[in-house]
Amino acid sequence: MLKPDEISENLKAVTDTIRNAASHAQRNPADITLVAVSKTHPVETIEMALACGHRIFGENKVQEAEQKWPALRDKYKDVVVHLIGPLQSNKTKRAVQLFDVIETVDRLKLARAVAREMELQSKRPDCFIQINTGEEPQKAGVIPSHAEAFIKECRDGLNLPVVGLMCIPPAGENPALHFGLLSEMAKTNGITKLSMGMSGDYQTAVEFGATSVRVGSAIFGVRPALTIAAL
Ligand SMILES: *Cc1c(COP(=O)(O)O)cnc(C)c1O
Repeated sequence: MLKPDEISENLKAVTDTIRNAASHAQRNPADITLVAVSKTHPVETIEMALACGHRIFGENKVQEAEQKWPALRDKYKDVVVHLIGPLQSNKTKRAVQLFDVIETVDRLKLARAVAREMELQSKRPDCFIQINTGEEPQKAGVIPSHAEAFIKECRDGLNLPVVGLMCIPPAGENPALHFGLLSEMAKTNGITKLSMGMSGDYQTAVEFGATSVRVGSAIFGVRPALTIAAL
């Protein structure tokens, strides 16, 4: 586990890298949100980042977020938590309760369940549509050729607050091609936000128009295998 000073330095370094990549691409650094991915890290580690003033986090599991975030929200009212992992339809109620942003809407059954929950809870977390830009069979996300119809159905048919697109490029491929594709798809569909880029490639993602990057290990260090009991 990293020490508070190290997390503070890492946050500064990542923020600097984002600022440099933005100015290189003639973009305003203020247009890029750093989502600190705190999955598998314990509350104590997250509090170190909160103590530095960081407020925007990403988690990939509903159950883990449920164990960590309600207490943190009581202490830090202005935190914003993104769901960045796959969501099962039977967990949408808890996801809509817990998260401010759901980045992984990727199939009709889930989109319908999320829309229904938003109605029931009168709470509308921003949604991103996850695109499987590499068309990898094992990976979540809508394949590019289905994206336009899916986005239209989510926005117009289900009235979901679709604000952006999200992707995770295939390991071992040049991520720039995938970031470029996602950026084109957003333009085609009149969407302005792009969640793309992780510790290894967020600099490239910023150059290709990312409006948020999801950075875990470059901030928090190596992820512990399991820190939360019974996950
Ligand atoms: C874990 C995860 C990240 C962060 O990965 P790092 O390489 O540690 O920065 C980003 N996005 C998603 C969807 C993840 O699951």
